[in-house]
Order: sequence, then C-alpha cells, then structure tokens
Amino acid sequence: MPHAMNVAFACPRCQESVRVEVPEGAASFACPACNGELTVPPGAYHDGRLEQCLVCPSTDLFIRKDFSQRVGVSIVILGFAISCVTWYLRLPYWTFGVLFATALVDLTLYFLVPNCLNCYRCDAQYRGLSGLDNHEHFNLETHERYRQQEIRLREAAAVAARRGA
Ligand SMILES: [Zn+2]
Ligand SMILES: [Zn+2]
Repeated sequence: MPHAMNVAFACPRCQESVRVEVPEGAASFACPACNGELTVPPGAYHDGRLEQCLVCPSTDLFIRKDFSQRVGVSIVILGFAISCVTWYLRLPYWTFGVLFATALVDLTLYFLVPNCLNCYRCDAQYRGLSGLDNHEHFNLETHERYRQQEIRLREAAAVAARRGA
C-alpha cells in the first residue's frame, strides 16, 4: 500500500475546510465535504517528492514546524509566572531551575514536533509525506509576493463587480 499523507485545505469547490488522507502518487482525490474530485497536477511529484500544491496548484511550498505558537507561548508564560513566585519566596536556585526547565521543555518540543508542508498561495497543509524535511523553509519574500497578488486579485474582482452592476 502506498504511503498516505494527510492534507488539510479549503476546498476550491465548496470552500469547506477539510482534511483528507491522500495516498502519495494518487492521480486524484475527493473532497470529504462535497465529494468533488480534485485532480492532482501531472508534474506534482518529482523523484517521489511533492513539488506542487495539489489544491491550487502552486509550486511554492515551504516547511514549518507543526507546532502551535500558542502552546509554545503558554509554556514560556507559565514558566515565567512560576519563576516570579519562587523569586518572591527568595528561592533563587528554584527560580533559575524553573527558567532553565522552561527553556528546555520549549526546545525539546521544538525538536520533537515534525515538519509540515504549507502552500504559500492557498495555505493547504501536508503532513506525513516522504521527503518532507528536504523542502525549503519559509521565505518572507515569496510570502509577500503571494500576499500582494491576492490583494490585486481582490481589487480586480471588486472593480469587475462594480462594472457589472
Ligand atoms: Zn468540497
Ligand atoms: Zn495551494
């Protein structure tokens, strides 16, 4: 059985946010919400590696840690709060210990959580695919390019709607 990856995306047909298991190399897959068929672009895989978003289909993808920013921040805040208490109780070694442990937990979590592949254009997320770690990391320039493009598209659509009315 081929390796399956988990794809989270906003369906272009029904706009629903969905998650679906797609076998790697599959020629198409169905949206679990509307059952609409999404065709995988023919050049999506190169040497067994996903090079193209299966949904939109942009070739600009980046990896990031599949780590909730909120969890990371909560750990740091909790550690800081405890260290304030120990500091107040005049327990300097406990204070340093707590701060050190907080940093360690944060770092360990960072290394333990796997990467997740994201599409710059439509924000689709791919998890558990092979060759994932070899992809490029987030690039602000590429992100900005797509953001500007989206703004222009939205403006153009607004102008077209006004003309049509
Ligand atoms: Zn759908
Ligand atoms: Zn995409």
